[in-house]
Amino acid sequence: MQLVLDWDGTCTDVDGLHMLLEEFGDREVYEQMEGVLGAGLTLHEVIATEIATIELPLDFAVGWMREHVTMRAGFAELAEGRSPLILSSGFHELIEPVLARERIELEVRANRLDARPDGWRPIWRDEAVCATCGEPCKRGALTGQRYIFVGDGYSDRCAAVAAERVFARDGLARYLDGRRLSYERFDTLHDVAAALT
Ligand SMILES: [Mg+2]
Ligand SMILES: [Zn+2]
Repeated sequence: MQLVLDWDGTCTDVDGLHMLLEEFGDREVYEQMEGVLGAGLTLHEVIATEIATIELPLDFAVGWMREHVTMRAGFAELAEGRSPLILSSGFHELIEPVLARERIELEVRANRLDARPDGWRPIWRDEAVCATCGEPCKRGALTGQRYIFVGDGYSDRCAAVAAERVFARDGLARYLDGRRLSYERFDTLHDVAAALT
């Protein structure tokens, strides 16, 4: 069965886009936006508002990401063994250079960045509103497929609920606990690889 991995905070130790926002974006906007996520604004609206506060040249941002983003233990092994699909609410431009650093090639479904000097803008891969959660979400990219999902955050909720099997940590685990849905907790990706053998 297809293995689907979220990228930030799942394949990586820490959410790289959040790191970038904290370092180079407007912290006040960032904190305010994380507070209203799922309570009035959609994920797309929140991300668009947050990244508009970043005015970095893309190649500088990519260099910074390649230097600072670290992979969760077990990533290389899981990538090689299972050829997972990476499904991210982040951006190709920030994911693929980190994958290239790791010398790993995987299919990535994510959004595109227009890194304008007066503030970054997202170019969404898919803006169709999901019938289940009422906003554009990852589930739409997986329609009609059976899959195992691995994730950690808000953007993973709807796709995780529709999966055959779920591995969760952090906010996604708390969300599934709250809804009394079953999942397997993971810390490293070795945990996921071991459970799948
Ligand atoms: Mg994540
Ligand atoms: Zn949804």
